[in-house]
Amino acid sequence: MRLEAQTTQGAAARARYARQAAPRYTSYPTAPHFAKHFPETVSRDWLAGLDPATPLSLYAHIPFCQQMCWYCGCNMKLAARYAPVTSYVDSLLAEINLVAAALPARMRAAHLHFGGGTPTALKPDDLSRLVGRFRERFNLAADAELAIETDPRTITDAMIARIGALGFTRASLGVQEFDPRVQAAINRIQPAALVESVTEKLRAAGIARLNFDLIYGLPQQTVSALCKTVAECTAMKPDRIALFGYAHVPWMAKNQRMIDEDALPGPQDRAAQARSAAAALVARGYRQIGIDHFAVPTDSLALAAEAGRLHRNFQGYTDDDAETLLGFGVTAIGRMPFGYVQNEAETGRWSRAIHAGHLPVAKGHALSLDDRLRGHVIERIMCDGAIDLDEAGRIFGSDAQWWRTEIPALDSLQHDGLLRRTDARIILTPEGVTLARIVASTFDTYLTRGQARHSIVL
Ligand code: SF4
Repeated sequence: MRLEAQTTQGAAARARYARQAAPRYTSYPTAPHFAKHFPETVSRDWLAGLDPATPLSLYAHIPFCQQMCWYCGCNMKLAARYAPVTSYVDSLLAEINLVAAALPARMRAAHLHFGGGTPTALKPDDLSRLVGRFRERFNLAADAELAIETDPRTITDAMIARIGALGFTRASLGVQEFDPRVQAAINRIQPAALVESVTEKLRAAGIARLNFDLIYGLPQQTVSALCKTVAECTAMKPDRIALFGYAHVPWMAKNQRMIDEDALPGPQDRAAQARSAAAALVARGYRQIGIDHFAVPTDSLALAAEAGRLHRNFQGYTDDDAETLLGFGVTAIGRMPFGYVQNEAETGRWSRAIHAGHLPVAKGHALSLDDRLRGHVIERIMCDGAIDLDEAGRIFGSDAQWWRTEIPALDSLQHDGLLRRTDARIILTPEGVTLARIVASTFDTYLTRGQARHSIVL
């Protein structure tokens, strides 16, 4: 076959993959495959069995927001009154006590992340109470990263000052897109000048490291609007920029039914937006990290990527190498060397369990040896774009032939230009890196078992 015809075929195949749905692989197996009614006793045994000498990561979920964005796919609720937020904080404080009491010692933590929802929807004193409780029950390392997600529209000067005083080292700002037509279509009005002002105030308060989140594939969005947004953002010099594809899943996120589906860009336009924004970021000196992150070369994420120390957790790419992540709050997921646990999603059930002295666990999954091996392979594909499958098998003591059944699928991906394979070693091509979720899914033995619906890849 002539080279030209092969190239055209490869491009058509890659466009087809981009329209396929696949998990984002922030865990393996992914959360839809966790078992329901997971026993609290197992979670307690896992906590008690942690090695007191190894550092932890901590995550607190604050599900409240002051306004509803129509594109939102997060676990959040509108806080019309503050009383439910106060009750939530009280329960969260009690959950921190419960979990800490189940550990073998007062353990060291190297990361504390507040996510949501909008953690800055809390009153500053409530944030102080939570950080204080974490400091009391865990040994937060002097160089620990304290990170918080913020909403530039609603964060107050008092909260910015408190974040600085509490020693937060990183803040992320939801930016998404500056184009006014897009902002109207997603119900999130937030001019660039507002983001610039919050950025300056955060830096003045001592929060040196800033992340911006952008989204492509939004209603009314165009390549030129997104590239203009990229230019405006990079002028504000955030250390990291995440560029996510809008996941239109109105069967899961009911608020997305407010989005005019006719105004959503088609697959080709989405792919063009992703490509153009990525190229604009790289041209402005950002390094591409995995499928959807960009960082200045001196940022710890870029350094970790260069050194092959990049990881994936429920926030996406991270340089955090703690094997154990403890999650607090509704829906929060914890990861321990033995497996995953996920908290109750319903606030009433979560809170009642805590006040009755129970860990509010709803779902979980104990990792088998095969899960660990495949999880490692999937993480390295998502992080490094390369893996030696024999070496991975040796790490986990598996049969050297373990991956041979995947050869037809890998050969098909190679034929379509997503990877190059030399026996056990696979390296993703630049197109394959963008579609790494597809390559990773080759090793996912749960994918065909469940009914879970995932977002499209690009
Ligand atoms: S996108 Fe962020 S601020 Fe908007 S509703 Fe969702 S969690 Fe809240």
